[in-house]
Amino acid sequence: MSRKTELRWRGTVASRGLVLGPVVVRRSTEGTARRQGTPDEEWQALTDAVERTQQRLQGLAETADEMAAEVLEVQLAILDDEGLLDPAREAIEGGAPADRAWVDVLGDLIAVYEAEEDEYFRARAADLKDLRDSVLAALNGADEVPVATEGSTAILVDRELTPSRFLEMDWTRFRGAALTGGSATSHVAMLARSRGIPLLVGLDGDLSALPQAVEAVLDAEEGWLVLKPEEATRAAFGQAVAARAKEAEQQAAYLAQPAETAGGRRITVLMNVDDPGAVEALDPGHCDGIGLTRTEFLFTGSSLPDETTQYQVYAALVRWASGRPVTIRTLDAGGDKPIAGLTPDGEMNTFLGVRGIRLSLARPDVFRVQLRALARAAALGPLKVMCPMVTVPEEIVQVRELLSQVIMDLRTEGTACAMPQLGMMVEVPAAALRAGGFAVDFYSIGSNDLVQYVTATARDNGALAPLHNPRDPAVLELIGRVVKAGAAADREVSVCGDMAAEPEFLPILLGLGLSAVSVAPAALARVKATIARFDG
Ligand code: PEP
Ligand code: MG
Repeated sequence: MSRKTELRWRGTVASRGLVLGPVVVRRSTEGTARRQGTPDEEWQALTDAVERTQQRLQGLAETADEMAAEVLEVQLAILDDEGLLDPAREAIEGGAPADRAWVDVLGDLIAVYEAEEDEYFRARAADLKDLRDSVLAALNGADEVPVATEGSTAILVDRELTPSRFLEMDWTRFRGAALTGGSATSHVAMLARSRGIPLLVGLDGDLSALPQAVEAVLDAEEGWLVLKPEEATRAAFGQAVAARAKEAEQQAAYLAQPAETAGGRRITVLMNVDDPGAVEALDPGHCDGIGLTRTEFLFTGSSLPDETTQYQVYAALVRWASGRPVTIRTLDAGGDKPIAGLTPDGEMNTFLGVRGIRLSLARPDVFRVQLRALARAAALGPLKVMCPMVTVPEEIVQVRELLSQVIMDLRTEGTACAMPQLGMMVEVPAAALRAGGFAVDFYSIGSNDLVQYVTATARDNGALAPLHNPRDPAVLELIGRVVKAGAAADREVSVCGDMAAEPEFLPILLGLGLSAVSVAPAALARVKATIARFDG
């Protein structure tokens, strides 16, 4: 990088916003193959990775709750075992790369635990898979969560970011991020939009030569990361920030009002919740309720959340909403949201795999816990349960059966509970084509996945962005059908995918007759302002 001249890197806007600040460069190699060194280097790399993982787990154990601490202790005890790495050493000396040697060692151990009769030991296999992945991440240099000082305006620049890594990061220390990989429709992009964190993906720069702390403008409006910005760029940045602030002020005027089109049509504006802990800071009066809670982000810790933990989270949302409906989606693990020990290993195509309701129905032991917590929270207010990735009506029949069973159990135990409304995400084309045939109380269209499945473009593949088009006539045709099916059966239809929050797409949806949307908290004001401008 030359010392003085401004350098512009192009990127795709995944979450809008503007930031001026120093870059924090991280060069994670997630998803890219390691280059194998000599046996000595491989052995050193493995022992370093194990040591770093030990330090990281010890740090986590200090602040973890009792249950998570117990899991971390088990993992630490395994790493402490002096003989653990002996077979790996042998394999490395025989020419194996460090990651393969490590995966094989853990694979043998996992197989032993999985074959145990005792359920407690079988459950530990999941902790071992988690441990395997932690050390692998360390080997790939992807384990370090970068830090900047609190309140700084730092911009994270990296190759990739996974949803779990995003959630682990303290975003009070960063104002935005730019990635050379990624895609605008991935879950990380969605999380960034939901938190209002500016994000660029597909950056066309070379990170290997980028020094730390270089000043930069992250222009996630026009799609640029400008390194060492010149005076003119800084001035333009200042103007753009002022214009955005003015626009935000105008939009904020709509926030506390019910949404209505210029033609006087009342539109229900619900909120998407990705981080239940963050709602307390929001005013429930700014929305008509919660239209989507992505519960998979409760399952990213080192152990599955138990019934009490889940109940407390759901109950807090119902209390916060003060009588407004709260829609909680059952676990949507899989696809680009794997959960170690729960989602299957080695699927060739995870987006078409055991994901969402398919996984929940395949794991009634895990699903029952969630349904019990949901039925209990439904006793506190209007809680609605929504199933992701529904494909055939039989899946809803099975969910209803399970729900009835857990309610019967809870009543027998004398535990307060209620039967919630049951709805489905419409995100699989087969379901959209015959939405009326599902015995549900409501529909919510998951446009992020619907676009992916209709256009056969993986949502995390930035190279296919032009084809991944929510405006595709086939996508709009299906959305129109679902709206009609809902009207015919007198069932609410909303759109909770990101399309609903975009000023360029929202008028199209309103034109199709849609009367409910669910959007990220950061988009509420803009969405209400867009609705107010719609003449229909
Ligand atoms: C969707 O697919 O549009 C959706 C809202 O769900 P997710 O993005 O979590 O898959
Ligand atoms: Mg989806």
